[in-house]
Amino acid sequence: MLNIVLFGPPGAGKGTQSEKLIAKYNLVHLSTGDIFRANIKGETALGTLAKSYMDQGQLVPDSVTISMLEAEVNKNPNAKGFIFDGFPRTKAQAQALDTLLSSKGTGITLMLALEVEEEELRKRLLLRGQNSGRPDDQNPEVIQKRIDVYNNETAPVKDFYTAQGKYKGVYGIGEIEQIFNALCAVIDSKIEKPTTAKTVVAKPVKKATKKATKKAAAKTAIKKATKKVVAKKAAKKSTAKKLVKKAVAKKSAKPARPKGGKLVKKKVTPKKAVAKKAAKKVTKKVVKKAVKKQSKPARPKGGKVTAKVVRSSNKKVVKKSAKKPVKKQAKKVVSKKKIAKKKK
Ligand code: ADP
Repeated sequence: MLNIVLFGPPGAGKGTQSEKLIAKYNLVHLSTGDIFRANIKGETALGTLAKSYMDQGQLVPDSVTISMLEAEVNKNPNAKGFIFDGFPRTKAQAQALDTLLSSKGTGITLMLALEVEEEELRKRLLLRGQNSGRPDDQNPEVIQKRIDVYNNETAPVKDFYTAQGKYKGVYGIGEIEQIFNALCAVIDSKIEKPTTAKTVVAKPVKKATKKATKKAAAKTAIKKATKKVVAKKAAKKSTAKKLVKKAVAKKSAKPARPKGGKLVKKKVTPKKAVAKKAAKKVTKKVVKKAVKKQSKPARPKGGKVTAKVVRSSNKKVVKKSAKKPVKKQAKKVVSKKKIAKKKK
């Protein structure tokens, strides 16, 4: 929607320019002054109330004006846009209009202000009073009162729209057509520059997209990292499994038979071979010793028994076992000699 607030002091030419603008942009014209006058003519309760203020050059109370304007907006649900002429005249009215339009999903596009010096305003209003018959235009005191009310109560509304970046002033003295063209140029620049609006909207969207992209990237990174870890673990597992399988297979596998049918001798490491040789030597020695022991005579040569010299750690045991038979043999020899002596 194209919603324009046509702003300016009394006699600035708002009514005249509104007629031309609504025709060009196909907008609904809502002039609070015109609506009040229609109500005065129709002798409605609203008209009677409004007249009492208008004749004094004062503003009709906000509550009355706002509810009246809301009703007028609601009467035009299919409007492509509005030109608000003579409204809002106070900050309260401006706020009420914002609330009303935003409830309908729209807002004010632009505040177009016709800027005219006070001197020019007085001249125009007095001239209009002579032709239109409007009582508020015929009394210089009432005219001044309206200008003062504008400066004190209405002019601050400019700040309200300036703060929103919607205020645009157009010089209101000159040819009607020239001023109209100036107004159209402002409106067209606003309509033809959707890029400005897009950029304003696009910025937070871009930020949001960046954030979303960052989040997505982080998620993907986490996923990738997790996959890698899982893959590594799986690889380790499978390697371990393979190794175990190999080991089992080696153990259980029968030695490969060569073509000739003979078994291939298992390769023995040099260390093992040495150990085997050593073991063989030891066994041989032990067997030799055992054989010697068995073949040794019970009695030593010459009748004397000598204890066997053993160098090993079991010296005592060997000595003892060697001594015992020596003693016995000696005793036997002694007893045999004694018997021989007795026989003599
Ligand atoms: P002008 O703009 O030349 O003063 P208008 O037709 O806009 O003429 O207003 C005529 C009178 O109607 C105002 O002086 C005022 O008393 C009353 N009026 C119009 N619009 C408003 C408004 N928005 N709020 C209060 N009073 C209004």
